[in-house]
Amino acid sequence: MLPRFLVFDLFHTLVDGADGERDRVVGEMAEMVGVDPSALRQAYRDTWDERLTRWSVEETIHILAGRLGVTPAEDAVARAAAHRRALARRVLDAAGPATLEALDALRAGGARLALVSNATSEAAEAWPACVLAPRFDVAVFSSVLGVGKPDPRIYLAAAAALGADPADCVYVGDGADGELAGAAAVGMRVVRTVEHKDTDPTWPGPVIRTLRDLADCSV
Ligand SMILES: [Mg+2]
Repeated sequence: MLPRFLVFDLFHTLVDGADGERDRVVGEMAEMVGVDPSALRQAYRDTWDERLTRWSVEETIHILAGRLGVTPAEDAVARAAAHRRALARRVLDAAGPATLEALDALRAGGARLALVSNATSEAAEAWPACVLAPRFDVAVFSSVLGVGKPDPRIYLAAAAALGADPADCVYVGDGADGELAGAAAVGMRVVRTVEHKDTDPTWPGPVIRTLRDLADCSV
């Protein structure tokens, strides 16, 4: 039987994480603000925790360019930030028709859906207008809440917003950032997806290949 409450990860679960495109865009942002592209890509990777829960796009550019010895002009920062925001909109709107249909089928079956995403501020900004948003009852972003997975608070915030006990929620994710163990720790049942990436291959629980398989998955 389908669970009544489903909690989904975003990147590499509902959409491709677009890792290659992210690297390309950060390289182009580096050129806009006058820093070395590979150094900025590395600085982005090294500050995932800060970007996830604290920094806006503009703060990220200012802080990382500063660490690389450059104080960029405001118009260059604005152009680079706009470039990054356009990437976030593209990535979120790239959710495939099979994913959208699977979500619609879950809702048609009476399920209520939540999103719990470790995402930087531009993804949270892009969310309300993206193709996925109307399918979800609740969306909790680390950049808005100020804590990310696997901190229990982000899962509990989603369950509370759904009006659900965590034990009645099924969490679906690829497994980045220890998110599957984090969901299990608050009492959610867990399904790992490998549709976009085989992120956490040693996770011992059920695995699906596409979201359609959720209907046949017993958790
Ligand atoms: Mg993910």
